[in-house]
Amino acid sequence: MVQCLRAFKLDQQKDWAALVKRPPLAQGELLHIGMAHFYAGVAIDRRGQVWVGARKYEDKAGFYTWEEAIPILAEKYDISEHVPLVMAFMYEYVQKPSYLLNDVIALEYELQTHLPRLPADRDLYTQRADLICKDDQGRYYIVDHKKVHSVTSRTFDQFTLDGQFLGYAALGRKLWGHDFRGVFLHRCHLESKVADCRPINSAPEAVTGHFSNLVAWERVLIQLEQEQADPFDYPASTSEHVCHGKYGPCDHINKCRYG
Ligand code: SF4
Repeated sequence: MVQCLRAFKLDQQKDWAALVKRPPLAQGELLHIGMAHFYAGVAIDRRGQVWVGARKYEDKAGFYTWEEAIPILAEKYDISEHVPLVMAFMYEYVQKPSYLLNDVIALEYELQTHLPRLPADRDLYTQRADLICKDDQGRYYIVDHKKVHSVTSRTFDQFTLDGQFLGYAALGRKLWGHDFRGVFLHRCHLESKVADCRPINSAPEAVTGHFSNLVAWERVLIQLEQEQADPFDYPASTSEHVCHGKYGPCDHINKCRYG
């Protein structure tokens, strides 16, 4: 979700290959690839099939194991120094029984919808879900893996109004209606090798208004693009919570301070 329109515009000029080398992102990428390959194997063992993206797999021939996948991705992105931390976490993680084990039916699955009141070339809204699960009562739920920097009871509140989670909730509700159970945060603290998975606290009003909110943001962006506005003419949020996020200061903070 866009937190600052100016940062959003400036981010389009970023070097993403360099960005992924930052420790939080690098570790998060390796965690995600490890989880994807672990749960692909689990789903095929238990259900005999799994959807990955738009493709159904019925055997493990197309997959690496998670132990293979993590170093392969690390080498590709030149982030191998983070492999030991993530591998140590995963070795511990896979030893513990999890209630996700019987439920995974899809991973890296793209949810999408068309937003109203937007031009046809701007109305497609997509979000990729880490896991789609189905419980023993036939209800669907979406799981998002997050590498967290601390494990506190506040985490589940913090994500309640997070745009990414509202998007999952709105898409899940649209797709599955009453058969949608909710969005779960699968938080992973690599250093302490602790993980848990619980539903995000509900925000029904915000979920109901989420697509309208996206349309409002998109219309502002379209207007600015039509005006060919300079990035520094995009609205700046200038908030201590946005300019100094949990992973440190915004990349553009010096430009905002000094020009
Ligand atoms: S420093 Fe703050 S106001 Fe400036 S681009 Fe970043 S988030 Fe926006």
